[in-house]
Amino acid sequence: MPATDSRIADWARQILTAVDDSVAEGALPATVRSFTELHDHCDANDFLIDVGVPHDGTDATIEHIVAVQDAVTAALQAPDRPWCTYGTCRYPGHNHTTTQADDGRDLDTPVPMRCTHCGQPAHYDDKLGDYRHDNPAAPDCFLIRAAER
Ligand SMILES: [Zn+2]
Repeated sequence: MPATDSRIADWARQILTAVDDSVAEGALPATVRSFTELHDHCDANDFLIDVGVPHDGTDATIEHIVAVQDAVTAALQAPDRPWCTYGTCRYPGHNHTTTQADDGRDLDTPVPMRCTHCGQPAHYDDKLGDYRHDNPAAPDCFLIRAAER
């Protein structure tokens, strides 16, 4: 039996709540902007299972799962969704600071990290092993100084 659109929206909303709880607990960074990206940090399928999206391998359940994933991605990409930055980040795998000054000197006290290319707030993601802009909507332009070490 096909699930209604409101059922899909309902599941997506419940998953969003669970994602927000994980962000608040520090289990996920606030910068995730798609269902696929959730997989970078956890087994995102658990979110589907936890809210009870049926999965029996039939075309109908696969369609539901894709629809829910798309709805979650759309919600994560909402322009007003906050992302984590220096001072607000609870995710232990993020480092939003650097100890290297603009001129390459070592600093005694860490300062908020900024992209050396465009100056936007940036961070290092331990799990991904990569530097990224804090704003997930910002195009990847940068060459962070430490990345070249
Ligand atoms: Zn962060």
